[in-house]
Order: sequence, then C-alpha cells, then structure tokens
Amino acid sequence: MDLNLTPQERLFRDELRAWLEMHAPRDWEARQSAEESMPARFAFLRDWQRRVYEGGWAGLSWPKEYGGRGASLMEQVIFTEEMARAGAPPLPGILGLALVGPTLIAFGSEAQKQRYLTKILSGEEIWCQGFSEPNAGSDLAALRTEASLVDGHFIVNGQKVWTSYGWASDWCELVVRTDAAAEKHKGLTVLLVDMRSPGVEVRPLRQMTGESEFNELFFENVRVPVENVVGQVNHGWNVALGTLMHERALLGAGLQITFRRQFARLVELSHKVERNGRPAAEDPVIRQKLAQAYAEIEIMRLNQMRAVSRVMETGMPGPEGSIQKIFWSEMNQRFQQVAMELLGPYGQLTRGSEFAFDEGQWAYAYLRARGNTIEAGTSEIQRNIVGHFVLGLPKSY
Ligand SMILES: Cc1cc2nc3c(=O)[nH]c(=O)nc-3n(C[C@H](O)[C@H](O)[C@H](O)COP(=O)(O)OP(=O)(O)OC[C@H]3O[C@@H](n4cnc5c(N)ncnc54)[C@H](O)[C@@H]3O)c2cc1C
Repeated sequence: MDLNLTPQERLFRDELRAWLEMHAPRDWEARQSAEESMPARFAFLRDWQRRVYEGGWAGLSWPKEYGGRGASLMEQVIFTEEMARAGAPPLPGILGLALVGPTLIAFGSEAQKQRYLTKILSGEEIWCQGFSEPNAGSDLAALRTEASLVDGHFIVNGQKVWTSYGWASDWCELVVRTDAAAEKHKGLTVLLVDMRSPGVEVRPLRQMTGESEFNELFFENVRVPVENVVGQVNHGWNVALGTLMHERALLGAGLQITFRRQFARLVELSHKVERNGRPAAEDPVIRQKLAQAYAEIEIMRLNQMRAVSRVMETGMPGPEGSIQKIFWSEMNQRFQQVAMELLGPYGQLTRGSEFAFDEGQWAYAYLRARGNTIEAGTSEIQRNIVGHFVLGLPKSY
C-alpha cells in the first residue's frame, strides 16, 4: 500500500481541513468536562453529525445513491486523520455508521437501503445493537428472545442486555429466534425494530464510570412488520456475523481520534505534573512509557488501514479484524494505566473535584477502558477467532 497522497487526495485533504477549520466546534473539550447531562451532550454531537453530513463528509465510502460519497479507502483514512488533527468531536451515530449501515448495504433489501441509510448518515436516526442477552454473550447463538409470525408481523418477546445507547436510539438491529426447533445457529432472524413501538422498554444500567451509557431492553408482544427482516427469515446468523465482523474491524477507527487527542494532552500534562521533585516529562520511566504509548497508537493507525483496506477490497472485513480489536482494547488499558502513573493521585479525582485535571476525564477514561476488552467480543473470543480462522488451529469448543 502506497501511503503517499496523490495530488487528488491532497486536494481532498485540504478541502476537508478547510471545512473542519471553519465548522468543527471549538468548545468540544470544554463541553466534555462541563456539568452537562449525557442527553444534552448527545444532542450536541447529533447536531455535529448533521453538519458533517450536510457538508458531504459522512459515509465517505458508502454508495452515492444512499447519501455517501463513493470515496476511496485513502479518503476514508484521511477523514479520520483530519478529524483527529482538528480535535473534532466524534460522531454519535457510530453504531449506525460502523455496524448497521454496512450490514444493510451488504444484506438489506433495496427498500431498506432507501429508507434507512441516509438517515443513519445524517444522525437523524440513531441505532443500537440488540444482540447480547443475560445468557447469551460470547455464545450469541444461545439467545432466546423469540419472534413468531402472525398476520404479516413478527411478535417479539424477550430481553436484551448491555445495549449501548439504547436510551438514545430510534432503531435497533435485533437478533431473535424464529425457529425454536432448529439447531442453535439456525432459526435466527435479524429484525429492524422501531424503538418507539408499544411494548419496548428501555432500562438504564449504571456503569462504574457513574454513567448509564448502556441499557437493558425488554420486549413484550412488540409488533415488527415482516418487511423489517434483514436477509431471510431463519438465516439471520450470517447477517449477525456480518455486523460483528464490521464491529471488530471498524469500531476502533473513530477511537483513534480520542486516543490521539488524549495522548497530546498527556504529553502537555507531563510538563506540569511533578514526579520525584521534577517535571514528569524528565522522568526516564515516564518518558519510556509515553514513547511506548505513542508507538502503539501509531501501530493502531496502521493496523486500521489494513482492516479498512480489506473491507474495500472484498466488501467485508476478514477475521483479521479481531487482531485490531485485541490490539486497541488492550492498548487503551495500558495507555490509561500510564496516564494514572503519570498523574499520580490527581488521576483518580473525578468530576467536581477542584484539583482534578480536565475535570476528572482521566479517571473516567481509566474506568471506561475496562469494558473495552469485553464489548464487541471479549479478548478471549477474539483470540479464538484468530487461532482458528487465521492460524488454522482446531476450534476451541
Ligand atoms: C461497554 C460495553 C458495551 C456493550 N455494548 C453492547 C451492545 O451495544 N449490544 C450488545 O448486544 N452487546 C453489548 N455488549 C455486550 C458484550 O458484547 C458482551 O458482554 C460480550 O460479548 C461478552 O458476553 P458476556 O458478558 O455474556 O460474557 P460471557 O460470554 O459470559 O463470558 C464470560 C467470560 O468467559 C470467557 N469466555 C466465554 N466463552 C469463551 C470461550 N469459548 N473461550 C474462551 N473464553 C470464553 C469470556 O471471554 C469472558 O471472560 C457490551 C458490553 C460492554 C462491556
């Protein structure tokens, strides 16, 4: 892969850079640390996504007829880099952009593509992923939420759990069991469920960060029209796997923006915080750790290019996406640990403490990073995938 920009790509980069210079919100850093509720922050980010879309920068690689730009892999990479460079806020419709949209492009009907894709790009409709259940996480095919067909509608009953942004979502990509007699991986169907349907209940789950980013979802006799089936009835396993492969391969792309912003700030802080009577930046152990973190963030960037490149070549991410998921999730935990070591006791102070740096963002980031090796498939499951599908080792179960 040639990483040098062509004249056309340079033009694209300059145009994007100028747009971000003019439009990227300047008060994003302050907002993150302000006493602002999660819904208010989410509304702000949603407005930002709308502006990105209207500027023609959302869904760069998606087909033009569905609101995308039909752009190249390199332009997608440039977009992520420039967002990081400008310190721009992330896009809140990330589950729609990285998971549901690509799944619909691959498996959805033409009517579904027309109906949903543009609104995913603009952030007008936010999506969540209703896969995990209390007894079906790593072993997703053990799920028990059921749906039966009655007069052109599926009637859904059951429970999902750990549903990120369930509270903010308009729609849910839901995996249900439609044939209880079939083998575990068969008899599953993927449905697009309107979160405002009667019988859908969303309950918050409080995380150790203090936030309720994710939820429990309960479905009681929820009616879903049959045209909301993605792919074929009882053949949902492949559709769900497609979503999971996109999740592993692409979810980390946006996080790169956060990691690079945090790293730059940590270097800044290393000049202010003292360690053994001198600035932490002069401490040889801290310097080693910061340099290591920088190298790892750079490796993540290059790995990301490899994952995106695979999607552009084949239309689907490969099992190599699991390498990226293992890497960024474990890297972030190491990185946040370095931040704690550098900041010392200040790092543990949470929002509201007058001595906390950046209003307690570092304590938040440290605690939130613990979930990284669980969400989107645990590190053990990712290693099983790499072992079997990349290395050709026997299956572990
Ligand atoms: C922050 C966060 C956000 C999430 N968001 C969503 C979401 O939006 N939508 C959604 O559907 N789900 C979501 N999840 C759920 C997530 O996908 C599951 O937690 C994950 O798949 C693990 O399932 P589990 O929690 O049931 O653990 P289990 O599957 O019960 O696993 C328990 C432990 O056993 C290990 N284990 C299990 N099977 C094997 C095996 N075969 N080989 C080796 N080790 C094994 C696991 O690695 C883990 O350490 C989220 C989770 C988190 C933490």
